[in-house]
Amino acid sequence: MIRTTESPTDLVRWLESEAADLWPAILGSLSFRRSPCGRENCPACLSGEQHWSHVLYGRHKGRRFAVYVPEDLVPQVRRAVENGRTLQDLLVQAGPRYVRALKRVRVSALKRKKN
Ligand SMILES: [Zn+2]
Repeated sequence: MIRTTESPTDLVRWLESEAADLWPAILGSLSFRRSPCGRENCPACLSGEQHWSHVLYGRHKGRRFAVYVPEDLVPQVRRAVENGRTLQDLLVQAGPRYVRALKRVRVSALKRKKN
């Protein structure tokens, strides 16, 4: 809910409380892909079946990264990716609210000056 009297401090408190349960948060995408293992004469690779595994993909400063995620760690990594998306969404929501709150502070400061 957006209050029309929200101050910049209120906004910070809102962000802090909403984000409190969102750690760890990471940005990236977790995918399930097939790839060769690199072992010589591996039957799975020779047959073309290869090996399924989870990989975390992302991009930082224009550079792509891909990190292998062992199966037992997938739930934790998936949760962190979800937290990252939720946190990103919160930050986007915070933008207009923060600007409106700053404008409100400026307007009331101007009014005080006049009086
Ligand atoms: Zn293989």
